Amino acid sequence: MTDTPVLDIRNLHKQYGTLEVIKGVDISAHRGDVVSLIGSSGSGKSTILRCANLLEDSQQGDILFKGEAVSWKGSGLGRHPSDPKQVLRIRTNLSMVFQQFNLWSHMTILQNVMEAPLTVLGRDRSEVEQAARGYLDKVGIGDKCDVYPAQLSGGQQQRAAIARALCMEPEALLFDEPTSALDPELEQEVVKVIKDLAAEGRTMLIVTHDMKLARDVSNHVVFLHQGLIEEEGAPDTVFGAPKSERLRGFLSSTM
Ligand code: ADP
Ligand code: MG
Repeated sequence: MTDTPVLDIRNLHKQYGTLEVIKGVDISAHRGDVVSLIGSSGSGKSTILRCANLLEDSQQGDILFKGEAVSWKGSGLGRHPSDPKQVLRIRTNLSMVFQQFNLWSHMTILQNVMEAPLTVLGRDRSEVEQAARGYLDKVGIGDKCDVYPAQLSGGQQQRAAIARALCMEPEALLFDEPTSALDPELEQEVVKVIKDLAAEGRTMLIVTHDMKLARDVSNHVVFLHQGLIEEEGAPDTVFGAPKSERLRGFLSSTM
């Protein structure tokens, strides 16, 4: 079914204790969609990504992966996914790339990329190694297989983290501010990789402060304000003809 979204988030509500941070959000991504989430710090962007791949529990709403709804037990603050196998399946298919790369410092770059496919998915070592080398080549650091993360620049480390996410062969990639920790001159090498992935039709959700990146790669942009979608649409509309006063204010503050 081509019209079943890869990821469909419906009426998501999330609270930390009594603090309600996501107040009823709907976001979906079909195969090949690149959806950017923008908004001020604290608006709930990271929380949505973390709820989507079940790193965080949510209190209300549905999360569907290729039409398969997450099954829950309990309710309210006691609601948790009920099926660990389903959690694993969804999490490995929605591979996350974090702002701080989160590479394992005691492993080489190649080992970092191979680790989860070997241990989580139980795949064959020689196949995984071949794929890992291929993804490291693809992100432009095929010559860095045998070095440790600390020996790489931030931009190279982030590209290694992207190769690691790709090596899980996920249905979609979730990026949480992938360029925020980088110096401006290193940002561009990561932006280029993300653009290449978009061009090859990868399904992606990208939280970013980089409005140019959001405008260039997305086919849909979601502007969040205090846990709700304030405005969304095609990038040309969201950036070129914003309707909401808040979005206009946000965009002028980021220029
Ligand atoms: P963004 O990524 O848009 O900056 P977040 O999703 O990180 O926003 O945070 C949304 C809100 O949730 C903020 O008010 C933040 O302080 C709060 N928050 C995030 N993580 C936690 C946590 N682990 N415990 C309590 N509050 C949190
Ligand atoms: Mg965040």
